[in-house]
Amino acid sequence: MNKYGHFIHGNTVEPSGGEWFDSLDPYSGKAWASIARGNSKDVDAAVRSAHEAYYSLQWRGLTPSKRAAKLRAFADAVAARSEELAQVESRDNGKLLTEIRLQCNLLPEWIHYFAGMCDKIEGRIPPLEKPLQLGLVRYEPYGVCAGITPWNSPLLLLVWKLAPALAAGNTFVAKPSEYTSASSLLLAEIASESGLPPGVFNVVTGFGPDVGEPLVNHPLVRRIAFTGGEPGGLRVALAAAQKLIPCTLELGGKSANIIFADADLDAAVNGIVSGIFAASGQTCMAGSRALVHESVYDEVLVRLVKIANAAKLGDPREPDTNIAPIATEPQFRKIEELIASALSEGAVLIAGGVEPSEPGATGGFFVRPTIFTNVCKDMRIVREEAFGPVLVMMPFKDEGHAIELANETEYGLAAGIWTKDIAKGIRVSESMEAGTVWINTYRSTSYLMPFGGFKRSGIGRENGAEAIKEYLQQKSIHINMSDALIVNPFIRR
Ligand code: NAD
Repeated sequence: MNKYGHFIHGNTVEPSGGEWFDSLDPYSGKAWASIARGNSKDVDAAVRSAHEAYYSLQWRGLTPSKRAAKLRAFADAVAARSEELAQVESRDNGKLLTEIRLQCNLLPEWIHYFAGMCDKIEGRIPPLEKPLQLGLVRYEPYGVCAGITPWNSPLLLLVWKLAPALAAGNTFVAKPSEYTSASSLLLAEIASESGLPPGVFNVVTGFGPDVGEPLVNHPLVRRIAFTGGEPGGLRVALAAAQKLIPCTLELGGKSANIIFADADLDAAVNGIVSGIFAASGQTCMAGSRALVHESVYDEVLVRLVKIANAAKLGDPREPDTNIAPIATEPQFRKIEELIASALSEGAVLIAGGVEPSEPGATGGFFVRPTIFTNVCKDMRIVREEAFGPVLVMMPFKDEGHAIELANETEYGLAAGIWTKDIAKGIRVSESMEAGTVWINTYRSTSYLMPFGGFKRSGIGRENGAEAIKEYLQQKSIHINMSDALIVNPFIRR
């Protein structure tokens, strides 16, 4: 079995408490890796290493172009080993290898994009209202940043935090999900081999209360970025508030995918399928509510059911598998319970449901592509995030009704709009209470486009030119250029 220690100060280190835990392959249900079980001592070692790397000026003291060159070398090393990263991540979270390969192939682009920003962090000289006074506004890093990530896309979501943080001159301590630690550890090893100085990027593995909490509470951690569920997000936000440090949160969603009557139905149906059934629905931006104009509702439903019923469940590493197992047993139980609640509340199951299976015997915990109709806004299946391949279908009468239904959620991560009338698409997008709106596409992200949530889906943004500002603080410098004596405030005139 593979053994993975923490990655601290450029080295793989054993857990200080001598404890290890198993990481399971979600398809076989068997342990495939042994992971260091971290504690507050390990967290302290990693944070002190990052703090030392920050204050020794080995990183933020580099000229911006030299820091960019180091990040570019890191990006190239990731590109060279992207297949290895994809294999490890797919083994750990059970996601389709084809999907993870796509994500891993994108990682270097993300790092290159932020590397390109290193020498573009420019201050300002505001035209001060005071004569002979010069004002300089500088952007400076925070110091040690912490990144806490979930299991569904561990590497991509880590790089969304790591790349801008390092480009801005900060150092970093990552805490990956206890279900998927291996790929983040491999990334740190690659970073170190590519020439990142020791301590610039550390990874401590283990559980939320043992590692996540001491990390966010550590006095030397100056900024936090968290992606995960709301309960964990709230605890992290409260810890940040206690320390009065900034924190970005990327949380859950219950996103609407709206199909108007004039949509290209072939494209729209494929968009709904990729929005909710790709990644077995285990994505924060899943389009879990299909809102369909009543005139095309039946046709869309028939097409969706046909695709859902034809989906092939199986080994995530096989290229013809459509639906991979759910990543963890607790997640499977959560989906199972939500499906049961929908049935008890009167929703009609048109396709799918939970697949009776035992990991190891038949290969993982599976949920078939599942579609519910006859739902109403009060049902839990309409309000709560399943984080699985579970779609609810709701008809709408007109544009206003579609907007009302789409926004009838506490979440606000994303929304999709399908129409050939681009003016209508843009008009409706303006009414969406969501951080990302796709028109005639879905689940598309870019390093150039800010990503984050409205409402309970989160605070702050990742990606895009704005993202680097999340990792920089402003300093105002006032300079007096006059030869005149400064007035003594104690002398009356
Ligand atoms: P989770 O909240 O259980 O865990 C996320 C991370 O937080 C893990 O590393 C975990 O160990 C850590 N953690 C848990 N409690 C903590 C605490 N008290 N202090 C510090 N760290 C703690 O989430 P998950 O089950 O891994 O992921 C699923 C959730 O993530 C879903 O709700 C999903 O919507 C959300 N998600 C959001 C986005 C986004 O970009 N908005 C992306 C992916 C996943």
